[in-house]
Amino acid sequence: MQITEIFKSIQGESTHAGLPCVFVRLTGCNLRCSWCDSEYTFTGGRKMSQQQVFADVQRLSPSGGLVEITGGEPMLQERELLPFMRELISSGYRVLLETSGERPLARVPAEVIKIVDVKCPDSAEGDTFDLENLQFLNPHDEIKFVLASRLDYEFARAFVRQHNLPSRVNAILFSPAFRKDAAGSRDSSHCLLDPQQLANWMLADNLPVRLSLQIHKFIWDPALKGV
Ligand code: SF4
Repeated sequence: MQITEIFKSIQGESTHAGLPCVFVRLTGCNLRCSWCDSEYTFTGGRKMSQQQVFADVQRLSPSGGLVEITGGEPMLQERELLPFMRELISSGYRVLLETSGERPLARVPAEVIKIVDVKCPDSAEGDTFDLENLQFLNPHDEIKFVLASRLDYEFARAFVRQHNLPSRVNAILFSPAFRKDAAGSRDSSHCLLDPQQLANWMLADNLPVRLSLQIHKFIWDPALKGV
C-alpha cells in the first residue's frame, strides 16, 4: 500500500468522535474538493507491505480499539486494502473506512463501518457519489455531508429525503466545511458555513441528522497534520 501517514489521535467527525483512534492515511485521491485539507496526500507517501502497516497499528494500539482507514481516497487501493481490513477485523480491531463513495463499495467487508462523504455542489465534486453504492450501505454505516453554503445544505436535505437515508444508516452527519488555509485560533470562525446558522436550518426543517464539528480542529491548530 502507498501510505502517507499512520498516527494515533482522537477521532474527530463521526458517531465515534472523541475516541482514541489509529489513523492509516493512504496516498492518492481522484477528486479535488475545493476545501480539501488533505492535499498533501495526493502524491508521495511510501510503499509499505500489509505486514508493515499492521505492525505500526499494533505498536500504536496493541490491544484492539478503533482504526480509521482514510486518505486521500483509500478505495483507489482496494486490492491491497481489502485483505488489510480483513486482518484488522480478525485481530479484534473496529474498523472505520472514510470514503467519498465514488469507487464501488460492494466488496468492503460487512464488519467495516463505512463513513461515506457524499460530495455537495460547492466542493466542486458534486455528483461524484455512485448511487449504486446505496445498496451496499449497512445499518451501522454513516453518511456525511460537508457543507459550505445554503446550496450545499439544500442538496444534502434533498438527498436525505429522496433516498430515505434515516432508514439505511446509523447516522447522517452535517458538517460545516473548514477553510483549507485555517490556522492559529481553534474556533468556528474558520468554518465556511457558520455552525449556528446550520443548526438553525436543521431545526427549522426538523431534519433527523446530526450536526458534526471536526473536533480535532478545535483541539489542535487546524493547520497541524497527523492529529
Ligand atoms: S475526497 Fe477527500 S482527500 Fe480527496 S480531494 Fe476531496 S476532501 Fe480531499
